[in-house]
Amino acid sequence: MTIAEFNKNGGSMIMSGNSDKIGICAECGSEYLKSTLEMLALCPECAHILYGYENCQHVFKDGKCMKCLWNGRHSDYVQHLLNDEN
Ligand SMILES: [Zn+2]
Ligand SMILES: [Zn+2]
Repeated sequence: MTIAEFNKNGGSMIMSGNSDKIGICAECGSEYLKSTLEMLALCPECAHILYGYENCQHVFKDGKCMKCLWNGRHSDYVQHLLNDEN
């Protein structure tokens, strides 16, 4: 994709052409990249907390992880689990 095409699409690489790879996490409602956890319908963060899957090493930029697209918010239930761990 050229820069011109990138701009023509509103500057959103993610929403243009890759939308089939983006899912909505069933637990926290965040968008996430389906590549690794397509079957679970969970973002890497929730999959890690709920089922012990390897978590993404999140790199946040503009309010979401550049790697998995998680928005950094836990659902109430997941937050509850995290609080209970300590
Ligand atoms: Zn999630
Ligand atoms: Zn991430």
